[in-house]
Amino acid sequence: MVILKTAREIAAMREAGRVSSRALHEAGKAVEPGVSTLELDTIVRRYIEKQGAAPSFLGYGGFPASACISVNNVVIHGIPSAKQILKQGDIVSIDVGAMLDGYHGDNAYTFACGDISKEAQALLDATKQSLYEGIKNAVAGNRIGDIGNAVQRYVEARSYSVVRDYVGHGVGAKLHEDPSVPNYGTPGRGVRLLPGMTIAIEPMINQGTHKVRVLDDDWTTVTADGKLSAHFEHTIAVTPNGPVILTLPD
Ligand code: MG
Repeated sequence: MVILKTAREIAAMREAGRVSSRALHEAGKAVEPGVSTLELDTIVRRYIEKQGAAPSFLGYGGFPASACISVNNVVIHGIPSAKQILKQGDIVSIDVGAMLDGYHGDNAYTFACGDISKEAQALLDATKQSLYEGIKNAVAGNRIGDIGNAVQRYVEARSYSVVRDYVGHGVGAKLHEDPSVPNYGTPGRGVRLLPGMTIAIEPMINQGTHKVRVLDDDWTTVTADGKLSAHFEHTIAVTPNGPVILTLPD
């Protein structure tokens, strides 16, 4: 069931989104060769807790950290570790959720560690832009398939592939609500978008095959072919005046 939010609830989500965005970009500023992914996770947790908020992911389904940190061929759900030290040329996807006053904000960004290859930069640029192509279509009267189709068309035109096994989602008082928001789809198909819907749009885009597999830790999800993957996400509200991004730093 899709839960529509009032303007007041959307304003509360905007505050949660602000904390989530700032935590994400504090961690992003610390991405450099020699830093461990656990250090990045600590930055996220401390920032969120200092704001009187709670990391949405910590303990969610048993996840052991505050941020998912997914390096290079890791698509999503990478577990931060003191043993994982970033190197020049890595791409580092950080996914952060924060809960403030009963509402979640969920966002992700893939950061470059030092100088990265031209190919890696192109993947980041395309994935980031595909998120905005999706957001543009999060308009009342459209359908969920319009969002996914916009993302899919943008990245496939650049010979990248859209991960199928994981999708975006409604978000609000719960981290994951209805509807599912795939990053692929058919225009005019799926749930109709209504003012008051709040959703996380989160393209996960691969350099090679769209196929992924989950490692033995039951979390870390990697590309089946070992090629790179990138991930960008915003929580947005569908409003009478168009889509509004809730996960902004200011
Ligand atoms: Mg999400």
